[in-house]
Amino acid sequence: MGNFYTDMIFPDARFDSVSRIADPSLLEPMTRQLVEGLIVSAQQMGIEVMIYETYRSQERQQALFNNGATRLRTVGVHHYGLACDIVRVVSGEPSWKGDFAFLGQLAHSSGLIWGGDWGAPNIKHTFVDSVHVQRCTVARQGDLFAGAWFPDQTYNPNEDVQHLFNATKKQPTKSTATAGRSETNSKPA
Ligand SMILES: [Zn+2]
Repeated sequence: MGNFYTDMIFPDARFDSVSRIADPSLLEPMTRQLVEGLIVSAQQMGIEVMIYETYRSQERQQALFNNGATRLRTVGVHHYGLACDIVRVVSGEPSWKGDFAFLGQLAHSSGLIWGGDWGAPNIKHTFVDSVHVQRCTVARQGDLFAGAWFPDQTYNPNEDVQHLFNATKKQPTKSTATAGRSETNSKPA
């Protein structure tokens, strides 16, 4: 049975693109809807934000790794259309400066996991990525990457209790340290 990854991302001409992609159409539809709602909510809070990166190819991940922009060689949740980086807009330019706790609040209320706490705010994380949101718990990532699981339209990672629990228990071992770790640091590569 197909899913957004197999049906839409895999055949896309940008599948191997080494360029940064900010096109929302490469976000899985529910993820896209939640991200767009989140951006509107941020604006209503007086915070201007923009999508910085949606889909990311393995080739781009490797290039970022080679540049030292990421510690992860293997692409993560961005590759499946289930993750998005959202940055502030300052004078028309993307900005990573300032507090992104608002993104955590909006992510949680809209059904996304925030990279600032990976859905487990009560524990200390060895890796935080405060501009990143994803519609998948950390604990589900292994199945996602293996092609064994893909969220349906009703899936809410914040209600994925068993997996959140597992993620919390595993932290801060390698599995959580690499969570969503398709990331660059805080600057565009
Ligand atoms: Zn990200």
